[in-house]
Amino acid sequence: MTTISVVSNTMSSPRVARSQPADRVRVALRRGREHRRWRARVADLLEATALLTLVLVVVQFFLGGGSHALLDGSAGDRLVGVGRIVGLVAMNLLLLQLLLAARVPWVDRAYGMDRALKAHRVLGRITVPLVIVHIGAIVLGYAVRDGSGGFGGAVSQFLTLVTGGDDLLMATVATVLLVVIAVTSVSIARRRLSYEWWHAVHLTAYAAVILAVPHELSIGSDFTASSWATAYWWALFIVVAASVLWWRLLLPVLRSLRHDLRVAKVVHESDDVWSVTVQGRALSHLPVKAGQFLNWRFVTPGLFLAAHPWSVSRRPDGHTLRITVRGLGDHSAALAHLRRGTRVLVEGPYGAFTTESRTRRRVLLIAAGIGVTPVRAILEELVVERHAAAGDVTVLYRANDASQMPLVDEIARLAHTGGHDLVPLLGPPANGSWLPPAGDGTGEGKGKGRREMVRSDAERLRALVPDVARHEVYLCGPGPWMDLVRKGLHQAGVPEKHIHDERFSW
Ligand SMILES: Cc1cc2nc3c(=O)[nH]c(=O)nc-3n(C[C@H](O)[C@H](O)[C@H](O)COP(=O)(O)OP(=O)(O)OC[C@H]3O[C@@H](n4cnc5c(N)ncnc54)[C@H](O)[C@@H]3O)c2cc1C
Repeated sequence: MTTISVVSNTMSSPRVARSQPADRVRVALRRGREHRRWRARVADLLEATALLTLVLVVVQFFLGGGSHALLDGSAGDRLVGVGRIVGLVAMNLLLLQLLLAARVPWVDRAYGMDRALKAHRVLGRITVPLVIVHIGAIVLGYAVRDGSGGFGGAVSQFLTLVTGGDDLLMATVATVLLVVIAVTSVSIARRRLSYEWWHAVHLTAYAAVILAVPHELSIGSDFTASSWATAYWWALFIVVAASVLWWRLLLPVLRSLRHDLRVAKVVHESDDVWSVTVQGRALSHLPVKAGQFLNWRFVTPGLFLAAHPWSVSRRPDGHTLRITVRGLGDHSAALAHLRRGTRVLVEGPYGAFTTESRTRRRVLLIAAGIGVTPVRAILEELVVERHAAAGDVTVLYRANDASQMPLVDEIARLAHTGGHDLVPLLGPPANGSWLPPAGDGTGEGKGKGRREMVRSDAERLRALVPDVARHEVYLCGPGPWMDLVRKGLHQAGVPEKHIHDERFSW
């Protein structure tokens, strides 16, 4: 059973942090500034390259005679021209989309996996309609050219094209796959599908690209209109295929083999939360940081088929890794019964929710529910590595009641060791607020009467964390709750670039 010990930096206890050399903090902040500059440069470079590929594709089309079709051709030619250029752009975007999901480390470190996957989703909303426009415009263009316009003419052209060769049949199957992926990604459909089904459908995107390639590389296609166009597309295909193969498949397999991870122990933290510690070979060479997550695959008959993301809940010490898991579904609940020695395969580490780009001395850690796991690891890193001076870290831990605060004792001990503050925010959910109803849990509203009840979240936050606007903030918890916290942080004056969060859903 969990007990809460509220630690305040006014407590008289020995504090390691008091004797910290301020140099360590200065070095950490300097590295943070350098990392931010690196991130900005990499993000600029990636975005400029992506844009350049689109420009190249359009230029390629016009230099290859596309302008003639679009500007001087008949109505049918123009439609076909539109279909051709849209097809080129769609293919380029589709390949960029695959790169965004390929777990390329520069993309992950510059944006974070959640933002990269969000961009992947947004591109998907553009790519699939473009593919449909590509097919529709070409089919209609052929029908108009042949004088068999109208719906019937277009359908008969479509059937002629599809049955005219294997290339186009395969491209049609590719389109069907892309449409199915798009439909299953719409939030209503996604909620109805299990993650495993949704993921399996999603993996067919690779098949879709492979199936589309032959019709692109066939003779007379815009993809092979010139030697440099051919070189461009081959280069892009190879970069994307190599990235996916290396970062999504080979590297995880090699890492798992190298580190030979095994379950060392499972500890029940509370009724539905348990911690799994794994140990392995040469773990100091696994580049995982506090705040990051890995995809974990436990090699047992029931669990092997799916890898799930869980954040490390302890600062990686080079010998073991630990995750702390809430049993939300069948898979996570089954982790409670893992046996010692069970082999573990991992993909990752991933995520930009780390202190790497911290540039402010004071740190505010805000967690709710199982979102406490990466936050706890970050707190441990700040304390153990002495990257924060005593009293410079505040932890706000939100829960409905004291029984729903996994790892709170560990957090209290760490806060105590570092001389930092832990403030539990206990109480039932309050409508439209991320804080408990005023007067609950924090003690901030006690005895202050009705005025307290109408204070905004931002005002209450400023009272809880003096000078909050000058903190580097790390935030993790349920999505809608985090949205409210973010709003409160903005209102309290914390600039967006100093708010870091990790979402437990994509
Ligand atoms: C970056 C990240 C870090 C996370 N860290 C932690 C953590 O430290 N501790 C913790 O308890 N939980 C964490 N989670 C949540 C955890 O991954 C899910 O609770 C878990 O996968 C649920 O699996 P299930 O089959 O038991 O439940 P289900 O009932 O199948 O799923 C419950 C929810 O989890 C989502 N989910 C299921 N499988 C996956 C998957 N493979 N990838 C992404 N989402 C999935 C589903 O969409 C659903 O919303 C994290 C999630 C993410 C994205």
